[in-house]
Amino acid sequence: MRADKRRIQTAVLGGAGSEEPLMLPMEAIELDAFRHVHESDTFWCGTLLGGCGGRLTTKFYTDRACHFAHHPDPDGLPHVCGRTARGVNSADHLYVKSAAAAWLADRGEQATFTYARPEDGPLGSVVDVRWQHGALRVHLDQAVVPVWDDAVEPVLGTMVPWVIVVGTCTSWSADLAPALSCSSGRHLDQLDAIERDGAGRRAE
Ligand SMILES: [Zn+2]
Repeated sequence: MRADKRRIQTAVLGGAGSEEPLMLPMEAIELDAFRHVHESDTFWCGTLLGGCGGRLTTKFYTDRACHFAHHPDPDGLPHVCGRTARGVNSADHLYVKSAAAAWLADRGEQATFTYARPEDGPLGSVVDVRWQHGALRVHLDQAVVPVWDDAVEPVLGTMVPWVIVVGTCTSWSADLAPALSCSSGRHLDQLDAIERDGAGRRAE
């Protein structure tokens, strides 16, 4: 089933400012089960997803991907929303936050999180994680170039190509990649797996 980039595949649960992400299954057969599980939940075009904060409903299709949609405006006109990131990856920063919070909590650490926007990158392009004994910057998008010689250790999401790493490391040889590492940078899959809800997709 092919996704349409204009269609909304992610939302947050319970309110516009929620940090609890949700991905809508694209297949009709899975949407039935999803609706059943979330019978008493509400879905929102979350502000932390770059959304308008409006409430969303689910659209069922058998001939194309199921997706979220805004409720029509009270005047009956189609709702206008400026949200640019709508695909299955668009809530990954919230999944990273929840996975990293659980990962650190297991180690007795309490972390703070910010969805910083260095270099005016899109919301969610990096997640900064700080706790008493460390700090990580998780890169989920190539819009923001990792900085390697910093107190904050970069972690690359698997959707960030190594080629941007090559560009920032003088000792890197592209031929030897990925056997060589010129810094302590790690790929995200070396952290505990980031699981999306529902279909249990891994971030990739
Ligand atoms: Zn919206």
